Amino acid sequence: MLVVMRHGATAEDIQLVVALIQEMGCSAKTLPGGQRTAVAVVGNDGRLDGTRFAALSGVQDVIHVTRPYREVSREWHPDPTVVQLSDGGAIGDREVVVMAGPCSVESERQILTVAHAVREAGATVLRGGAFKPRSSPYSFQGLGKPGLALLARARQETGLRIVTEVMEPGEVDAVAEVADIIQIGARNMQNYPLLKGAGRTKKPILLKRGNAATIEELLLSAEYILAEGNPNVILCERGIRGFDSATRNLFDVSAIPVIRELSHLPIVADPSHGIGRRSMVQSMARAAVAAGADGLLVEVHPNPDHALSDGAQSLHPAQFRDLMHQCRLIAEAIGRRIAEPATVRS
Ligand code: PEP
Ligand code: MN
Repeated sequence: MLVVMRHGATAEDIQLVVALIQEMGCSAKTLPGGQRTAVAVVGNDGRLDGTRFAALSGVQDVIHVTRPYREVSREWHPDPTVVQLSDGGAIGDREVVVMAGPCSVESERQILTVAHAVREAGATVLRGGAFKPRSSPYSFQGLGKPGLALLARARQETGLRIVTEVMEPGEVDAVAEVADIIQIGARNMQNYPLLKGAGRTKKPILLKRGNAATIEELLLSAEYILAEGNPNVILCERGIRGFDSATRNLFDVSAIPVIRELSHLPIVADPSHGIGRRSMVQSMARAAVAAGADGLLVEVHPNPDHALSDGAQSLHPAQFRDLMHQCRLIAEAIGRRIAEPATVRS
């Protein structure tokens, strides 16, 4: 970090900056220039709070040289993380893992029907929310614990692994009993008690990007989970809020290669929430695989027009089969392949 002083900064101003740097456990190196002085912070491992300098007398600017995260960064951990799933299988290696299913678990019949359909099409993980974060308190809030039991039933019947959302720190253990991957949704990306709770399990965590979060903020949220002791984090791009109402969100396909450079963690894409319109989900899924996503999270419903949540972006099973076919071709073209259910030991 470099603290740049104003042109007229006094020796006392500079001394105050030096003293604060030392108080924070680092050493300071004063760099006098023709126009102004800068003070370099030496020994900063990225944890220093630069905002403490901004309002000091004589300070013009604070320039960050070190990134504010460490455990998630590729700079510190160059080898890619491969998150191992229960019963074999992994996310972050050559195989692209497809997770598919309804937005919400609605009934036994619905979840079992869709579980069989996505498995036949080639998905290896079943998605479905039992606890639903809805924008309106009057919308369907999910079945809660009975929904988890239905997911367990679907797992038993199909051998598919389960990804499902947790919303409260107190529910992490209950969700972990059923989930092979615990989802933290976009709305909870900065729910720090929840991130810490997720960090205390060893289960894989699928952390979705908040809909107005920068990539740096996503990585800092992941850092919370790693800092707490859980290295099994899968990042998920799911679209950010844009200015154009033509689509539900702005699917940031560029986040995939950016995150790949900045972090060693696997990055998956959710084209369903990313674009929000059924007819366009396949194109975004193709783009995500082409951009190097390690997996896809896709909403599929046996009867999307009657879905209790996110029906407009949920694919019919036949559309999902097409998507799988297209994505297999694209994965192959870039030297990868889609993980197949045959690799699931059920
Ligand atoms: C979901 O996966 O259904 C969901 C609520 O996603 P997000 O948190 O990305 O909105
Ligand atoms: Mn949804």
